[in-house]
Amino acid sequence: MALELRPNCECCDQDLPPAAPGAHICSFECTFCLACSTRLAFVCPNCGGELVRRPIRPAAKLSRHPPAAVRVRRDQPCFPGGAP
Ligand SMILES: [Zn+2]
Ligand SMILES: [Zn+2]
Repeated sequence: MALELRPNCECCDQDLPPAAPGAHICSFECTFCLACSTRLAFVCPNCGGELVRRPIRPAAKLSRHPPAAVRVRRDQPCFPGGAP
């Protein structure tokens, strides 16, 4: 199984294409943009795990191993009481 490259940030829904340099993930592949990861202090709000930079899959591999199509959003706000 290849890493699941999710297409968006779970917090702010920003697009995170496979080549997005700022995408961050936890060990469960919860996916966040750099701005949200920074605000989260690089701790996943879903599982409490570490958020690390998502490696960029080589473009030549994307046809056989395409990114995930399903957008995932958290049902709870990531930053309670705070503006995005
Ligand atoms: Zn975000
Ligand atoms: Zn997580």
